Amino acid sequence: MPELPEVETVVRGLRRTVLNKTIRAVTLNAPPATTVVGPSFTSGTFEEILKDRTILDIYRRGKNILIALSGEITLWVHLKMTGHFFYLDRTAPVDKHDLVLMDFYSRKKSDNHCHLRFNDYRRFGRLRLFYTDELWAQKGLKELGPEPLDIAAAAFVRRCRDRNRMIKPALLDQSFIAGLGNIYADEALYFSKIHPRRLTGSLSTKKLTELHGHIQELLKKSIKLMGTTVDSYSGVNGQAGRFQKYLAVYNREGEPCGFCGTNIVREKIGSRSAHFCPRCQRLR
Ligand SMILES: [Zn+2]
Repeated sequence: MPELPEVETVVRGLRRTVLNKTIRAVTLNAPPATTVVGPSFTSGTFEEILKDRTILDIYRRGKNILIALSGEITLWVHLKMTGHFFYLDRTAPVDKHDLVLMDFYSRKKSDNHCHLRFNDYRRFGRLRLFYTDELWAQKGLKELGPEPLDIAAAAFVRRCRDRNRMIKPALLDQSFIAGLGNIYADEALYFSKIHPRRLTGSLSTKKLTELHGHIQELLKKSIKLMGTTVDSYSGVNGQAGRFQKYLAVYNREGEPCGFCGTNIVREKIGSRSAHFCPRCQRLR
């Protein structure tokens, strides 16, 4: 699943390509669950509501993409497992997983040929329309915890101390901190030498501060490299990320740890698999 750096890369790609453009037409080729019209809209289909609206802002919150439109409406997108946006030539063959096609009015000649497609072969991705003033009351947005790149180290430590729980599931919990997933949680715990089952209350301030630092460092580096592609992720321009070659434990089960040479293991913790070095990350 795309995590914070991948979603941030998509947001930046969308800003470069469709910001300030006005939607001319939307074509759906999607199962009914993909697009949602909020209950406050009294009339209009998804396509009709989007038509003639201008894209005023595109930003990220956790793993969510928020596209602010004229008329106080926001298109809220979650890519889930395999959702992609592609900005490409209108004449490019339409794939059966191109679920939403969005055309824009052109302002300059070079605009004429391209449009935006939402492609999703697993079909868990969602595009939802809400009035902007109702957006932050929606489940999936209202409970989001702080952004990992914004929270200060001391506040992160306090948050960990608030409730004693296993560190790995805590990092994945979007209400605890918003935007991390399995990749960056496993990597950050490895570089901090913290076993994924350690309880947050058992970790020293020094350790938690170290973890906070590694989380920020990994996210920043990955954003610079346009994210991690281990499955299908790519940016709006179709380019894969380049952070995967720096992964130390994620998807490296059976390979030697870079610090001690012990084989990396994978273990189910909560409902997710965790990758770690059993020697460097001791449970005690
Ligand atoms: Zn090791």
